[in-house]
Amino acid sequence: MTEIQLEKITKKYGAIETIHGIDLTVTDGEFVVLVGPSGCGKSTTLRMIAGLEPITGGDLRIGGEIVNEHEPKERNIAMVFQNYAIYPHMSVRQNIGFGLYTAKMSKADKNKRIEETAEMLGLVELLDRKPSALSGGQRQRVAIGRAMVRNPVAFLFDEPLSNLDAQLRSQMRIEIKRLHQRLKSTIVYVTHDQVEAMTMADRIVVMRDGHILQSGSPTDLYENPSDIFTARFIGNPSMNMITAIATQNGLVAENGNAVLSVASPDVAINSKVSVGVRSHALSVGVPNGAAGLTLTGEILVLEPLGSETLVHIDTADGVVIASAPALHQLTAGQTVSAFASVENLYFFDSDSQKALMRP
Ligand code: ADP
Ligand code: MG
Repeated sequence: MTEIQLEKITKKYGAIETIHGIDLTVTDGEFVVLVGPSGCGKSTTLRMIAGLEPITGGDLRIGGEIVNEHEPKERNIAMVFQNYAIYPHMSVRQNIGFGLYTAKMSKADKNKRIEETAEMLGLVELLDRKPSALSGGQRQRVAIGRAMVRNPVAFLFDEPLSNLDAQLRSQMRIEIKRLHQRLKSTIVYVTHDQVEAMTMADRIVVMRDGHILQSGSPTDLYENPSDIFTARFIGNPSMNMITAIATQNGLVAENGNAVLSVASPDVAINSKVSVGVRSHALSVGVPNGAAGLTLTGEILVLEPLGSETLVHIDTADGVVIASAPALHQLTAGQTVSAFASVENLYFFDSDSQKALMRP
């Protein structure tokens, strides 16, 4: 059982607190991704779990035992970094075996473990090569192998794919995910890239400024963001956001020409409401008279993606990104309308930034 439990964990550097009492339980075998912008405290949190950074306050439990004061090696957790630092003068076999450097095992047992690990990572044919004769993806797999070979109770990954090109990154995402499906090991994975979080995680934990904002499955976060930050951070393009005022007769665009035929959510009259809509739910064309949001403006730019075209529209309520079918006849400079029906709209309190019940 390798449950990792953070209870009111804080971190101070001198007088400055950077992690503000976070609670998080990673269950046995779960793949949890911590995601958030640079500087929000992802690496610090991971390093505290690994034992590379002292914990200022709170309790860290691994498998039920408080390990705040345990040395990294007593925790038996493996960490894979962005700069995977494999040794250029060593072969793949020696690099993977380096993970067993301090292990009290016979040479034969060590070799057996190295070969089993190489087998799992598709590195068997490459065991005698030097890193210079490997591709970027193969080198990253060697680094993972060095972590795996020790049979750790959990894996921690800190932005391990950031140095790879886009194609390799998406390939390695799949490889790590498949590895997890086979090993069923507990994983805490840190990234600033919401695509990595969405595609790999069992559960995503959104961090901001040393706090956890929300945690849930990728679909849950995408469909039910609890605040504006998560709504705009998860999903690409970012959720469009229009500011409206709650009136007796429904929402009215704060300034601009957005047409809202929607009742006001349960907030005080005259308070500001941010109305969100994802691009794929905002389609270019004539509104069909249904309740919802209509925006009108000039096309700034078109982004054909093959399966659809993203249409950037300069409206009086700000630039929004709508979606049009791939072969739609549209040109920059043209004036168009985009429409989203009410069930595709999100509502947030503009002051607290928190999600409101849909009216
Ligand atoms: P992330 O990994 O999410 O980009 P970090 O965990 O590296 O963020 O950093 C979180 C915050 O802690 C940042 O504001 C950073 O400046 C601060 N920080 C990190 N390491 C140190 C340190 N050794 N001394 C002082 N402040 C630090
Ligand atoms: Mg970091």
